[in-house]
Formats: sequence, C-alpha cells, structure tokens
Amino acid sequence: MSDKRDYYEVLGVNKDATDKDLKKAFRSLARKYHPDKNSDPGADDKFKEIQEAFAVLSDSDKRAQYDRFGHSGPQMGGGFSGFDIRYEDLFGSGLDDLFSNLFGGGGRRSRPRQARGQSILVRKKIAFQMAFEGGSEEVSVDTFLSCDSCSGTGGATRDDVDICSTCRGSGQITQTRQVGPFVQQTSGICPSCQGRGKIIINPCKECKGEGRKKKKQTIRFNVPQGVDTGMRLRMRGKGHVPKQGGVAGDLEIELVLDNHPWFERDGAELLMSLPVGFPDLMLGKTVKISHLDGKPLVIKIPSNSLAGHTLNIPGRGLPDGRGRRGDVIVLLKLHIPNKPSRNLKSQLETLKTDLSITDEDLESAILDEAKDRRS
Ligand SMILES: [Zn+2]
Ligand SMILES: [Zn+2]
Repeated sequence: MSDKRDYYEVLGVNKDATDKDLKKAFRSLARKYHPDKNSDPGADDKFKEIQEAFAVLSDSDKRAQYDRFGHSGPQMGGGFSGFDIRYEDLFGSGLDDLFSNLFGGGGRRSRPRQARGQSILVRKKIAFQMAFEGGSEEVSVDTFLSCDSCSGTGGATRDDVDICSTCRGSGQITQTRQVGPFVQQTSGICPSCQGRGKIIINPCKECKGEGRKKKKQTIRFNVPQGVDTGMRLRMRGKGHVPKQGGVAGDLEIELVLDNHPWFERDGAELLMSLPVGFPDLMLGKTVKISHLDGKPLVIKIPSNSLAGHTLNIPGRGLPDGRGRRGDVIVLLKLHIPNKPSRNLKSQLETLKTDLSITDEDLESAILDEAKDRRS
C-alpha cells in the first residue's frame, strides 16, 4: 500500500525511543540534510521525510495511531509538504522554540519575540548623469554579520547555548505580589537573559558570545532613472544582525545627486543660462553644446531675441518616469566683454546713436519696460 519507510527507521531510533531520543535523532539528521548545508540531490526529500517522521512520532496521539495502524492510520494520510525550518533554528534554544512552535510539543508557551538587528542609513553621492540613465553604484558599510564560528548562536559549541531557566525560554517573567487585598501581576523582560530566552554557557571565542562580528561589506545597488536627492533605497536584511541571532535589520541608502556643471534640475526639466553677445541676440545664432544623452544640444537663438527670455527645447530633459522626457529651458543672458579693447570702444562710439535710447524716447521706453514686466 504505502512505499513509505518506517518512521522509526527514518529517524534511526527504537520503538521505545523517548521524547529526548527523538529530538536528538531529529536534530542531528536535520542538520545533516538541511538544504542550506546539503546540496546532494535527494537531500531535500530526505529532509522532508525526517520532518514527517518526527512530526508524527513526537505527537503522542499520532504516535499511538502509527504504532497500531502504520502509515494507513486515520490521521496519517495526505501529502506532507514539510516545514520552513531555518538552519540556525536547529541549534541551541532555537531548537526548543522550533519544537514548541512547529510541533506543538511545548503547548502555548509564547516564543520570545525574535530579535531584530539595527538598520543602517548611509548617504551616497551619485553622479548627475545617473538621473538621466540610472545605473549601478556601490556603498561600503561596516556591518555586524553572523559569526561564522558559532553560526550566530554565540556558544563555543552547539550545546553551549541553553534555554534560560529563569523564564523557560519565553524571555518574559511574570511576578505576582500582594498589594493590600489585590494580587498585582507585573510582567517584564527576563533579567537573566535580557529577553533573549537563552543563556550562553560557554561563549564562542571568535565573537566573545555576541554571535556576530563587524565586517566591511561592499553592496552594489541599482539607481533608477530620474533619481533625485533625498530618494531612499531600502535593502531588506542588509543591516546589522542582532546579538546572538535573529533577523538582520535593513540597509537604507539615501541618495544625494551631485550637481551638474551648468544644469539645474526641476523635476524632469533642466534649466540653464546661456550667455549671448548683443549682436547674436539681434541677428540670431545657432549654438551646439554637449549633452547628457550623448547627442549635441542644438540651441537656436532667433533674431531679435531679448536677454532674460527663455527658449524651450522639448524632450531633451530628464526621464519623467512615464516614458517621456522633460524639456531643456535655456535662459538667455546678455554677455558683455569683460575688458573691451580701445578699438571696440571707438567702434561702439560710431554705433551709439543707433543703439542707444535718446533722451526724448526715454520715458516711453521706461513705460514699455514696466508694461512688459507686469504682463
Ligand atoms: Zn530568561
Ligand atoms: Zn561566534
């Protein structure tokens, strides 16, 4: 009927194995075949087989059924998909938590809240060009990582981490005291284990029982197009590992976009000032400058342009995140030679009457200017 192996045989124990024998057998087999440590083909199935055998035999009702009916017992059927067991949980007090949580052996005892490591925030300056095309960058961070020698448990050997006897692993203690006619109950963090639920009998030499060591890590990350200063990228689990195991915190990278030599940014729009000589403003001119997208930016200054006016070059700004690009906005500035030569000055003298505003026209010119400003 069933081609399943005998559960006792799977765990390599006798029919009269005690609870302790079962745990011991399960612990050593599970470590051996855990998919994190064993990449042999078939190790995964073996690991599931071990879990299934243990799940049945460690439950006294199911075990009694199995002893009577074998694999065809009323509660035996159905596909067993295995539990999600972390390799680190197979050591020290993690194992006790595992048994009480997964197999219900320990009743409803609360598991100590899994410690969470601190998160790290780093600021990273990135080139302006990244805002245009995105890219890949890296940061170097000093991070507390799980100690290799003790797999993060903090114990010199696997048996040097024990469940805290004060709180019996819950990390919490409840004290009752008589206050007048009342019984007052206070619960708090266990002082013996600081809420970790476990005690290290003999600390690991490598990390002095901390279960973690600081190491420099280089982390690469992708910078999205359109990135701007203040954007934060969160990388789960890349922060510090807490003392004696738990969940690592996050790494948060705050990006600071470097300045561009001449562009200022306004969302997807790029703003720049362009110095233009007076004759070019009057007669018009086309200039070319190098641009972020690799193609030259062609700026056509029409004739009769005025300083202070802007030109719009559509679609040559930054990606707007909706598949389009913003504009480049060019502010025209009047360029006046720094040290005009004597020759230039004398030539200007001859043009003066044409270019200057006469005293009679001054008032109306001022009025026009004021109207311009208000419109
Ligand atoms: Zn404790
Ligand atoms: Zn260690």
